Amino acid sequence: MTDGETAGDDLRLTGLTRRFGPVTAVDDVTLTVPAGSFFALLGASGCGKTTTLRMVAGLDRPDAGRVLLGDRDLTRLPPHRRPVNTVFQSYALFPHLDVFENVAFGLRRCGVPDVAGRVRRMLALVRLAGYDRRRPGQLSGGEQQRVALARALVNQPRVLLLDEPLGALDLRLRRQMQTELKRVQDEVGVTFLHVTHDQEEAMTLADTVAVLNAGRVEQLGPPADLYELPATAFVATFLGRCNLLPAEAAGPTGGEVPVRAYGSRFRVPAARARSDRGAVHLGVRPEKLHLTGTVEQVPSGHHSVAGTVTDVSYLGVGTEYLLRTGWGTELSAFAPNSGVTADRWPIGATVQAYWWPDHAFLLPRSTGP
Ligand code: ATP
Repeated sequence: MTDGETAGDDLRLTGLTRRFGPVTAVDDVTLTVPAGSFFALLGASGCGKTTTLRMVAGLDRPDAGRVLLGDRDLTRLPPHRRPVNTVFQSYALFPHLDVFENVAFGLRRCGVPDVAGRVRRMLALVRLAGYDRRRPGQLSGGEQQRVALARALVNQPRVLLLDEPLGALDLRLRRQMQTELKRVQDEVGVTFLHVTHDQEEAMTLADTVAVLNAGRVEQLGPPADLYELPATAFVATFLGRCNLLPAEAAGPTGGEVPVRAYGSRFRVPAARARSDRGAVHLGVRPEKLHLTGTVEQVPSGHHSVAGTVTDVSYLGVGTEYLLRTGWGTELSAFAPNSGVTADRWPIGATVQAYWWPDHAFLLPRSTGP
């Protein structure tokens, strides 16, 4: 630990901005990464994730804004003066050094005592005990990434930055390494700031996810909050599939917001309305949309629309149905393969798609997907 900061210091970005000519890569980003948390920056390619990380690492300078750790201003400090390390997708290991020396490298430069003990503890942490004398070329991609993780943690940074660290791994290994990353973070308690474009990875790993869009924070919160009650159509569709029906909202009455879509009337709880007047999107996720044969079979208290099945995809964990409503809108309904119901709807079947009003949400329509 260096002068000033303690283990309990939050990382704060305030008004962070970076322009490249006409492009504002990072646009007035303000967020707090709580000390010891696993925080994910999630967004599509080009949304400014890497540029944000580089400014935290000190590899790039903001045009405006600050990077703070507790009360300490890191903004103008060179990278080696920051208690921050980075793990890159490319691993960036020294090919001519063995695993032990790769991990020991940073420690030797600082002249810390008990290098061997520290390196061995780190290799045990990432489950590579006994691999000391192998060269990077003799390791699998997942093993190389573990070495990179050990090397980045061995000198006890306060914050670890991870830039798409699992991007080069195949899906199976990626899932394994996600579990490993979470376990290591739990054990060391270091603040992890993780960049990814994979929504599933962000939701699996992070305590808090910030969704970035065109350099700005679109929404920030625990994964379940973002998924269940997104703030914008962009977040709703970035975090998974979502049916968005253009609708008109009439303002809240008695804890509910009445909306009209294609001549039908629906209700949404006021607490689930991000926008409650004028042009809105009525959002319902496919797994919250259930199918039955007739209006009479729709359970009481639910809303429903009629549709015709236009496509059926069997996905193993469930079946996805595409429907076309009488208004010409396409809807997606996902029926989990629970083994309880044997309902199968063939292409061409006329069905009722129904949902519980508490499972819908209203979003401002001007921020369309
Ligand atoms: P990816 O997931 O593809 O790595 P990203 O979200 O990390 O994307 P950034 O690499 O931060 O995005 O880039 C954000 C924007 O800034 C992009 O439009 C990119 O072209 C631009 N940009 C980044 N670095 C530079 C640079 N050195 N010079 C000019 N433009 C840059």
